[in-house]
Amino acid sequence: MGCGQLTREQADHTIRLAGWVHRRRDLGGVLFLHLRDRTGLIQLSIGPEWTEPAAAEFAASLSPEDVIQVTGRVVLRPESNVNPDMETGELEVLVSEIERLSSSDPLPILVAVPPEEELPSEELRLRHRVLDLRRSEMLNNFEVRHRVTQATRSALSDLGFLEVETPFLTRRTPEGARDYLVPSRLHHGEFYSLPQSPQLYKQLLMTAGFDRYFQIARCLRDEDLRSDRQPEFTQIDVEMAFVGEEDIYAVCEAMLQRVYREALSEEISIPFSRMGWAEAMESYGTDKPDLRISWKLEDLTPALTGIGFGIFDSAVDAGGRIRGFVVPGGASLSRARLDEFNKLAQATGARGVLWIKRTADGWSGPVAKVLNDSASGALVELLGLVEGDLVLLVAGPDRQTSVTLDVLRRAAAQKVDAVNDSPAWLWVTDFPLFEADLETGKPTPSHHPFTMPCDASAEQIREDPLATRSRAYDLVLNGTELASGSIRCHDSEMQRAILETLGLSAEEIESRFGFLLEAFRYGVPPHGGFALGMDRLVAMMVGAESIREVIAFPKTTAARGLMEGAPSAVDDAELADLGLKRL
Ligand code: ASP
Repeated sequence: MGCGQLTREQADHTIRLAGWVHRRRDLGGVLFLHLRDRTGLIQLSIGPEWTEPAAAEFAASLSPEDVIQVTGRVVLRPESNVNPDMETGELEVLVSEIERLSSSDPLPILVAVPPEEELPSEELRLRHRVLDLRRSEMLNNFEVRHRVTQATRSALSDLGFLEVETPFLTRRTPEGARDYLVPSRLHHGEFYSLPQSPQLYKQLLMTAGFDRYFQIARCLRDEDLRSDRQPEFTQIDVEMAFVGEEDIYAVCEAMLQRVYREALSEEISIPFSRMGWAEAMESYGTDKPDLRISWKLEDLTPALTGIGFGIFDSAVDAGGRIRGFVVPGGASLSRARLDEFNKLAQATGARGVLWIKRTADGWSGPVAKVLNDSASGALVELLGLVEGDLVLLVAGPDRQTSVTLDVLRRAAAQKVDAVNDSPAWLWVTDFPLFEADLETGKPTPSHHPFTMPCDASAEQIREDPLATRSRAYDLVLNGTELASGSIRCHDSEMQRAILETLGLSAEEIESRFGFLLEAFRYGVPPHGGFALGMDRLVAMMVGAESIREVIAFPKTTAARGLMEGAPSAVDDAELADLGLKRL
């Protein structure tokens, strides 16, 4: 039985416990220790009437995090000593014997961090991860993670899915990032790629007739780590044959419902809402709208062009639009707040944000002086403005205003407390097949190159790639993209057209994807699937800020393992073995 599992039923029983010294409190005469193991804490009491003098003396020499084993009698604490904050707070163990199994050096970071104290810096926590993982918050994160994994396995297995492992040493799988390369010792000059995802293998498993596959798959992507990414991460990877979007949504929803039920005892309501990509971009400025915030973006170009406001007119002349949204009750926001919004807008690359307030005394804000009757009437009508409202406006090309307005919409909603409490699940559907690369203007896949276009022929794709929509979808929770997937292209000719549009020559297509296209020549079922970011899901379930809180041994944002010291240098002999030379 563990420390945290003791109940009144064990009162008067003599038991043996082992664990770590969590905290000690010496009341001169009686020494109290909190003993900790994975199940929780129990108070040990060491006193002259029930502990051997030698054992009591020894106990006084114990340090936090020493590992000990004790024998003692479980008793109910006197009423006045009951600790309601502790699971076992009604009990204590009167220790008769005590033994140290191993001792701890002075601690570089505390395990028993008092609740009012801040945690050490993340760098220290990662450097001493073993100690950091001993904290009950961390243990809880991993218990939830474990339940998520188990529930995923049972849910998918009950739905007829087979769990199959796919290789780590593989060839390139394009998901838009750089591959980690592993030099081959047996074939100098050749490299394995670590998989960015099992994408091609899962499609090959469908071609092999496996019908329903899943894997809790580790993916590796060598990219510059933006705020909360990891070079290796885990996804729930799913693929199904002979299906359409509806079948896939249903599987994903059923799986998540079971995961929430079994990991958190929470019910989520399914089916999730749906929204087309074009509507998401127009009404929310992003392909992952946070629908806990009800405000929508509006196009105010017709109402505000030509009223004598230069910034608007020049943005519209350059092909842009004036878009904005209402912050209900936002007229009370201070000038300092509005300046903050302006800084946020500038940080996204916009010139700034313009604002209009509708107050009891009329209109105010930089645009107010040029608002003629027809413009103000149009605003009221279009936006349903009432007294006390604020309008935030950004003018420019959609590419820019969308990004800025999305950031502003979320920031302003936080400020005025307009974020609904209930979780907002959303399928975003009908993504474009390609998007234009910001620098080169060339088509790049919106998802990945194996996605089926919506009603387009191979010729149409070659002729006008950017106009083609795809059968791709994302699952969004509270504005965070959790999963992504598509119906795949199972037509070799169409697949070639897509790869050619990406600028690959016939030889490159053959050498990189020949194995896929060859398999497709022997009878390929229509198929599709998705992958769901498991680290992110668990982080959101436990309310953690970062996925690093739910990965046992994560890397820093500079892709380093601080505890084990990775990456590390290798010597010349090892390099020579691999056929590599130091530059
Ligand atoms: N392979 C995709 C990814 O890793 C997911 C999918 O399309 O199933 O994002």
